[in-house]
Amino acid sequence: MVRHILYCKKCGVYTMQEKCPKCGSVALSNKPAKYSPEDKWGKYRLKYKEEMEKQ
Ligand SMILES: [Zn+2]
Repeated sequence: MVRHILYCKKCGVYTMQEKCPKCGSVALSNKPAKYSPEDKWGKYRLKYKEEMEKQ
């Protein structure tokens, strides 16, 4: 899996290299602020727990 992905704003290209393969400018990390896999799965876990408690 990808540990971190970088993004060149200039080209709009995602890369795992520190520099953009296209233009050579510094690629920046582009983590979406409101996205968290933990939260996503936490939601499912909560739902699952609720379902289990009903039975
Ligand atoms: Zn670029």
